Amino acid sequence: MLKIAPELNDLGTETAFEILDKAEKLSKAGKRIINLGIGQPDFKTPEHIVEAAVKALRDGHHGYTLATGILELREAIVENLHTRHQVEISPDNIVVVPGGKPTMFFSILIFGGKGKEILYPNPGFPIYESLIKYTGARPIPIKLDESKGFSFSAEKVLSQITKKTSLIIINSPSNPTGGVINKDELDKFALGMEQHPNVAILSDEIYSRMIYDNAEQVTLLQYPRIRDQLIMLDGWSKTYAMTGWRLGYAVWPQKLVPLVTRLCINDHSCVNTATQFAGIAALKGPQIETQSMIKQFSTRREFISERLNSIPGFKCQKPKGAFYTFPNISQTGLTSARAQDLFLNEAGVAVIAGTSFGAWGEGYLRFSFANSLENIEEALARITDCIQ
Ligand code: PLP
Repeated sequence: MLKIAPELNDLGTETAFEILDKAEKLSKAGKRIINLGIGQPDFKTPEHIVEAAVKALRDGHHGYTLATGILELREAIVENLHTRHQVEISPDNIVVVPGGKPTMFFSILIFGGKGKEILYPNPGFPIYESLIKYTGARPIPIKLDESKGFSFSAEKVLSQITKKTSLIIINSPSNPTGGVINKDELDKFALGMEQHPNVAILSDEIYSRMIYDNAEQVTLLQYPRIRDQLIMLDGWSKTYAMTGWRLGYAVWPQKLVPLVTRLCINDHSCVNTATQFAGIAALKGPQIETQSMIKQFSTRREFISERLNSIPGFKCQKPKGAFYTFPNISQTGLTSARAQDLFLNEAGVAVIAGTSFGAWGEGYLRFSFANSLENIEEALARITDCIQ
């Protein structure tokens, strides 16, 4: 018997990848599956970004870079944050990593462990709870309520802090709900956190550009008094349709940068060099394709919300951000898991059970609208037929 580390028994997973696998198997067996499960833009990476990576390879950028990322890329991030949010950040506080997930992993490793409590959104991105449990820390859910537009109450979150709390994770715009935390609540949260300087915050802002109805883009970086406890995660996966490139970054408190750099060196040395050049081109080049993608997501958002509300037993709020909608399906009489299986196997539509995002996701399904209007229309027609 191999002696596998017992902590790994507590490591969870992300159901979207399992559903993707099942959907691909069904497709190979000849079924036409419409995938509204996976969370990735159905657009190609803009051509000028691809060209920058190809050029970097042709120009001979084949070696390692600094573990935190090449300076020009970190400077481009700083400039981008300044343009978008008028914040002053030093390139020394930026650590570039392969995607959004490594920042999550490192933050939870740093602040986890037995005897600690970590607050995280529920329903929320499943990797938070998985990693918290893996480190032995106690996961404390921040319940996101449908009745509050899946936003959170700063007062309630602050009241959940105990002596054991080491980290609070927030995610806005949210996966899976599409909820956005409004500026008032963020103001209250940031102000309250000033009283807890020994509690770190991981603000997952990977969907920060995907925000609708001209709503203001806010970031916790805009609150300088909590900067020494804030880790702000963002990346290229969603904004530039680059999920497969594996490129992300975080702004870290200065004190933690040496530790995170050591984690990078122990884990991956540095991000693929050509990908880093692509990242520069993405930030510095034309934004027209990203803007057009977001416009299309906005149109689909209107369409999918309206259509979902016309399915018997479904009730759906129009999401304020990201590219997910999270209808309440409890009136259909189906559990989330049953609906997920039924829709995949009978209707050929891949969606994700709300429970994949935590216990508070029971009674919901996540639909990604990173798919064409035609496919969304057909998928919802198939689901309607299936439950009638
Ligand atoms: N954070 C959230 C909220 C996400 O939904 C995702 C991906 O779905 C990530 C982070 C991870 O992004 P990446 O694919 O860049 O690792």
